[in-house]
Amino acid sequence: MTNDPFEEAVSVLADSRHLVLACHIGPDGDALGSMLGLGMAAKQAGKTVIASFGTPFTVSENYRFLNTDLLVPPSQVPDAPEVMVTFDAGSADRLGELAKAAGNAETVLVIDHHVTNTGFGNVNLIDPTAAATAEIVVMLLERLGWPVDEEIATALLTGLVTDTGRFQYSNTTPRTLEAAARMVEAGARPEIIGQHVYEETPFGYLHAAGAVLGRAQLDAERRLVWSVLTIDDLKSARIAPTDTDPLIDAIRTAVESDVALLIKEVDGGKVKASLRSRGRVDVGAIAVELGGGGHHNAAGFTFAGSADAAVEAVRSRLDPVE
Ligand code: 5GP
Ligand code: MN
Repeated sequence: MTNDPFEEAVSVLADSRHLVLACHIGPDGDALGSMLGLGMAAKQAGKTVIASFGTPFTVSENYRFLNTDLLVPPSQVPDAPEVMVTFDAGSADRLGELAKAAGNAETVLVIDHHVTNTGFGNVNLIDPTAAATAEIVVMLLERLGWPVDEEIATALLTGLVTDTGRFQYSNTTPRTLEAAARMVEAGARPEIIGQHVYEETPFGYLHAAGAVLGRAQLDAERRLVWSVLTIDDLKSARIAPTDTDPLIDAIRTAVESDVALLIKEVDGGKVKASLRSRGRVDVGAIAVELGGGGHHNAAGFTFAGSADAAVEAVRSRLDPVE
């Protein structure tokens, strides 16, 4: 073994015949794209591959244009895989029920870019300077010498596009853009990804967005804007929780705010919080304090309590600005 995590990851992947892949629950474009991209390449390299994520086992409509043939429900994941590779999961609990399989696996390879990731695998390929886990996978595939076809490139470019907010967040580096350029060269079509990810919502989403925007509130002193998505909003709009990902982007445009908070009610008296920062405040640190994690400018946590209590937990961690 060497100390270069890239080389260690290359040996793990090159030397094993069967791979079990897992990404974080409620997968976004980076979680799915990085996992499916590496999975398809591994399959073409002759490996048997399955990919999964913890319940609810639903792929957001916006990502169904990706080739998802490798996906199996978490119930079909072996209890103790030989090799398990995790994607975009900052900690084992982000794997949902698949955390157990990771705990039992002979070898766990963690591929991730969360600064809060302390490394829960035997091999930890964690690079917080990467804009997306997909950026790490692009470099890894090059080291492996595994070819990138149009479907692999599309999955990986989707990860790059979504985690950089279409290359407009501060995590976008020359290396990110070079990785994206290589994916376009390999056949990925930016306009097709843009269309599916950013230009399509179910009609009911419009009403849910109306309700959430209508109840947005501003704490001007703390420069916090927040709103709540209720279970009733989802029911009356007849949409799935996975359809609501763009809502946080709709409320965070309030220029009077530095931090945006969207609380989503989930069953069982719990709420899921999404946090976004314009840069002054480290929302990742706030999320960690509240049992979650993420990045400086984008983070989240699950909270056992009411929406109001979750808002208060965040608000009390923000200092008033004059
Ligand atoms: P989102 O608000 O889009 O769900 O998540 C934003 C960022 O925070 C993502 O990088 C995501 O991985 C991370 N994140 C969201 N929720 C949680 C959580 O409950 N725990 C941890 N560790 N990270 C989270
Ligand atoms: Mn990511």
